[in-house]
Amino acid sequence: MNTPQIIHGRAAAPGIAIGPALVFSPVAAVDVPTASPEAEVAHLSTAIAAVDGAIAALEDQLRGAGKDEEAEIFSAHRMLLDDPGLSDRAMALITEGGLSAALAIGAAGEEQAAELLALDDEYLSARAADVRDVVGQVLRRLTGAQGLAERLLVPAVVVAHDLGPSDLVSAPRERLLGFALAAGGLTAHSTILARALGIPAVIGLGEGILGVAEGTPLALDGAAGSLQIDPPAEEIARLRGAQADLDARAQALRAEVGLPSVTRDGRQIALVANAATPAEARAAREWGAAGVGLLRTELLFLERPDLPDEAEQLALYAAVAAELPGTPITVRTLDIGGDKHLPAFPLPHEQNPFLGWRGLRIGLSRPDILLPQLRALLRAGASADIRIMLPMVSTLDELRHARALLEQAMAQLAAEGLAQSASPQLGVMIEVPAAALNAEALAREADFFSIGTNDLTQYTLACDRGNSRIADLYQPLDPAVLRLIAMACEAAHRHGRHVAVCGELGGDPRATALLIGLGVDELSCGPGSLPLVRAAIRAADSGSCADLAQRALACASAAEVRALL
Ligand code: PEP
Ligand code: MG
Repeated sequence: MNTPQIIHGRAAAPGIAIGPALVFSPVAAVDVPTASPEAEVAHLSTAIAAVDGAIAALEDQLRGAGKDEEAEIFSAHRMLLDDPGLSDRAMALITEGGLSAALAIGAAGEEQAAELLALDDEYLSARAADVRDVVGQVLRRLTGAQGLAERLLVPAVVVAHDLGPSDLVSAPRERLLGFALAAGGLTAHSTILARALGIPAVIGLGEGILGVAEGTPLALDGAAGSLQIDPPAEEIARLRGAQADLDARAQALRAEVGLPSVTRDGRQIALVANAATPAEARAAREWGAAGVGLLRTELLFLERPDLPDEAEQLALYAAVAAELPGTPITVRTLDIGGDKHLPAFPLPHEQNPFLGWRGLRIGLSRPDILLPQLRALLRAGASADIRIMLPMVSTLDELRHARALLEQAMAQLAAEGLAQSASPQLGVMIEVPAAALNAEALAREADFFSIGTNDLTQYTLACDRGNSRIADLYQPLDPAVLRLIAMACEAAHRHGRHVAVCGELGGDPRATALLIGLGVDELSCGPGSLPLVRAAIRAADSGSCADLAQRALACASAAEVRALL
């Protein structure tokens, strides 16, 4: 195989996996001799019923392990299998088209997958993998082909075009060392499950990877997003050593979970977590978060065909708050558009979706969506410290408009005699350069700022955050981005406002001292990053952080800033 020794893809699930390659391809719909249409229909019905039972067993297995959210993936798979668009279509292809059961279900599945892929949306494309997963299982029943579980006889690193969630959950964990995918998506269920189950994974490695010979030694680094083919022995030793160090460090950091997030000279930095589900809020508590700094509400609504009503939203926010009682829970109002899509709210096609109808812009033009959310947040705030955060704010007018809606919601609840938050805080995300440049005006009226470095970087550098062709340009440490962060912090502090960072940079321990030096009061990051960020805060000294920030602000490039850190 003519492949470079190291292939770079996208980091999907952290961890290091070293072992022989097992190249797995999903079963194709082979044309087997066709019996009578009645017999083919009967074969297909039996196979579908058997797969439904097998998926139900996987769902039970996950529920039994306390992984309710992951189990939901399989309950959705059962619905896919039950969808007339799939099963009725396949039956029609048999009775009207004379196809075999295998060809019919294969064709019906590919039609559905193609429709999803044609929508050119990362989230919906990832659902195509779910359709292929259930169809693949039916095909295996019909053709007797082996699934990943049967193929994995020895521990191996699995190489595939894509994998379905059922492949991961049914494969024996001790033999599935990790997986490397030619395709795959960061929001695909196989990626979500890999993180939940602790299986190292790299995706987006390109089709060339499928040419690797079976049994070739592989070393996969899930955090770096790289795959080494036939690495030299010393590299394997280095990676094993790195993994052992990481394990030891994680162990040591666990012991520090209860320690305060305070610099050596006594400056308190609020260390809170980004979460999207009650389960993540629980993980945040286990890692010692002092609250939630960013609850991404759109993810709570992802697996549903409709938007939840006020009562359902209230229950969800209360469930998250219950995981971290007595701490601030900063909830972001719905932030769809750009790269975030909801099945319940299909968006019109736009030339520039990141510059288009997204975030608060949608909320303000659709009060039928924003008002129930504000009402639910106010009601959840009656018994928890819920703070409301607005995404994608560009102008002061937008903040004023949102505050007017909040006041309307408060008046409605008061008139209805429903309990609500006594003094709701309304903050803005600083993720559009205009918001940072106009921070002075925003700080007068917003109760807090939270800097979304992911979008702030993309908009400052005019660089689509998901476009791998220009990934080199996407540098959160670019001095241009740092200057905007500094401006936002200075303006906020002049008005006594608290500033958080909730973009990915907040979870990068290499940037912790710099962010403290720029004036950030709160760092919010994924639960898994909390221990390292806590350690970085505790190792910092605010005087040296301020010096570091001044030097970084004087740098000419992200590379210079990185060299400083
Ligand atoms: C950000 O833009 O930094 C942010 C936290 O929001 P999201 O990544 O959800 O757009
Ligand atoms: Mg954002």
